[in-house]
Amino acid sequence: MREIIRAEYSGFCFGVDRAVKEAFTVRKTKGRTFTLGPLIHNKDVTDKLEDSGVSTISEGEIGRLEKDDTVIIRTHGVTRAVYDGLKAMGVDIIDLTCPYVINIQKKVSEYHDKGYQIVILGDGNHPEVVGINGWCDNSAYITPTGEVDIPLKRKVCVVSQTTEKQRNWLNLIMNIAKTSKEFVAFNTICKATEERQKSAEELSKEVDAMLVIGGKSSSNTKKLYELCRANCEKTYMVENAQELAGMINNFDGAVRVGVTAGASTPEWIIKEAVGLL
Ligand code: SF4
Repeated sequence: MREIIRAEYSGFCFGVDRAVKEAFTVRKTKGRTFTLGPLIHNKDVTDKLEDSGVSTISEGEIGRLEKDDTVIIRTHGVTRAVYDGLKAMGVDIIDLTCPYVINIQKKVSEYHDKGYQIVILGDGNHPEVVGINGWCDNSAYITPTGEVDIPLKRKVCVVSQTTEKQRNWLNLIMNIAKTSKEFVAFNTICKATEERQKSAEELSKEVDAMLVIGGKSSSNTKKLYELCRANCEKTYMVENAQELAGMINNFDGAVRVGVTAGASTPEWIIKEAVGLL
């Protein structure tokens, strides 16, 4: 008999839960409504939103918007330039940027204005990091691993993408401390991320196989996969039950199976997938 063990923390976080609920509610009371980029990194959810009449547009398509349109800013946030541009157009803005991300944007803006060099730990192509960098005139030094290979200014302010790994943060702080005389560091890794990573990592040490459920472009889901894979060779990442069905044989012989899911994975997708194990 197979035992399925769910990680203590997994699935929707506070920021995503709030954004998804609000986006579906907004649609009922507004006219033409768009999200700027996919609301969250989960195709099943964004497809449902599209079916309900909320379309996704890219930043390059902002010119298509009309004055009475409603634009939803997603959890990752946007640059100051994009935000100001939308305001100047007079469109109705529903800002669902996660409050934790807004906190980072404010810190970056404040310390940039004070003359600090901003350093961001994260993926420079991820929309959250692109957005944060846009609050310091796109001047940040961005490092994905914590390695620093350029000389930094005398005063440095360090922040992190909310989904980063703690070990990368520690690596960055060590490297900054070696070269910088004066720095301020805000550990902005989100608590939801830490809890999900820690509980998934612990669980992956105790099971025969691990299932990680989440969108292919979800940064936090990929990090859960990497952490689990380091402990459990039979770790598999799927977007949903359909994808799992095509590789279910990989779980043959696994008696104890651990399950975790990214912060943008809704409960119904987790339940459907777990039902196949
Ligand atoms: S992972 Fe954290 S920062 Fe990101 S949306 Fe969720 S609560 Fe907000």
